[in-house]
Amino acid sequence: MSSKAPRGTVDLLPSAARTWRYLSQTAYEVFSTYGYEPIETPMFEQTDLFVHGIGEATDVVGKEMFSVLSKNAYEKIMAGEQLKADQRLSLRPEGTASVVRAVREHNLIPQGGAPVKLMYAGSMFRCERPQKGRLREFHQLGAECLGAIEPSADAELIVMLMRFFECCGLPRTSVTLLLNSMGDDACRPAYRESIRTYIHENSADLCEECNRRAETNPLRAFDCKNPACHAVMEKAPKISDALCDDCRTHYETVKKYLDIAGIDYVEDPRLVRGLDYYTHTVFEVQVKDGLGSQNAIGGGGRYDKLMEAVGGNPTPGLGFAIGFERTVMALEAAGVELDSGSNLEVYVATVDDTVRTEVFTVLQSLRDAGFSADCDHQARSLKSQLKLAGKAQVPCVLIVGPEELLSGEVTLRDMNTHIEQRIALHDVPAEVRSLLGTQTA
Ligand code: AMP
Repeated sequence: MSSKAPRGTVDLLPSAARTWRYLSQTAYEVFSTYGYEPIETPMFEQTDLFVHGIGEATDVVGKEMFSVLSKNAYEKIMAGEQLKADQRLSLRPEGTASVVRAVREHNLIPQGGAPVKLMYAGSMFRCERPQKGRLREFHQLGAECLGAIEPSADAELIVMLMRFFECCGLPRTSVTLLLNSMGDDACRPAYRESIRTYIHENSADLCEECNRRAETNPLRAFDCKNPACHAVMEKAPKISDALCDDCRTHYETVKKYLDIAGIDYVEDPRLVRGLDYYTHTVFEVQVKDGLGSQNAIGGGGRYDKLMEAVGGNPTPGLGFAIGFERTVMALEAAGVELDSGSNLEVYVATVDDTVRTEVFTVLQSLRDAGFSADCDHQARSLKSQLKLAGKAQVPCVLIVGPEELLSGEVTLRDMNTHIEQRIALHDVPAEVRSLLGTQTA
């Protein structure tokens, strides 16, 4: 059997895996300066969490979830039986619902202890039609802040997101931060109704899906990729004209803080994030060039109703998720070099079979001293070992041969200058450290 990775998934080969680690590390470093702590939640949850937390009318839950069945559950379904709630499981399509569930389940916000700030990095799964920048398993870096009601928290989160992109090397000029308010329970229902009516009035010019959306989730019509629908929705009533006083004040204050922080944004009254749970501030970071239609590299917003939707006490919340694959595409388009190759520091070359034991011991001493070091395990000639080390851009090579060993020495070769020197075996770690030091000086 010759098997391939499933459609819409990719293997993160060493270079991409190193980049994933680098971006995750950068995120952890940046976010921790804002008080965030790491959390890891399961890759799958009870399906109901996503149904209640994200919303059945969203594409993510309605169309794109991967369900997980145990053998037992599968047999029950085949026998026409119903599954209990705890047997209905789905792979996580996003991280927020799981984090909010974990915060509720483990009571992570003790009285007076708010807010709790959490960050994660991991795979998400959505059964979408794969295309450039859109996968079925993709990786997200996310942050969630629960228990903070003030608009300063919204601004802080956005500043942190932009700081992350900056720390990755993405020029500020290559991205656009879109900003909007989606209102709250006081003003959104009436606005939704006005959009429903607008869709009905323009039904002949809108696609079937948008007409269906009028009944289930009218705001989603703003996201339709069909150019004709886009043109119609351009003229739809704007949420900015429908915000209640509280929402308007909240939104204006967020903008004030962003101005103070020097963060540029473009107000987009038609930015309605795909998931049902958003209230107040929503935002998206889009790349200006090079990513085509999948140009959103991150986005998020405030979700003050989510905790209740998953069975907790009313708790305001906000967060964002960054798409790893699209961020990498954006960085590449901006000419940012992400992976400087393998980090092997020393290659220990074996002159002939008689010295294998010494090579083994020298390698051990180098690794114990903290160097990343490797040797040949395939009886290659010295010439091809040196060629291999050169190709892997290893900065220094130790050549271990019987003749040098007689005087308790080995040869240390600087791969940049090709200068060689004999050094005492017992000085190997110190000499290697000094050579690597002069190379980076
Ligand atoms: P969302 O959870 O939909 O708000 O998405 C947050 C970010 O994840 C987006 O801005 C994208 O960068 C990324 N993303 C979402 N869906 C996919 C996908 N199917 N494939 C790759 N990246 C995705």
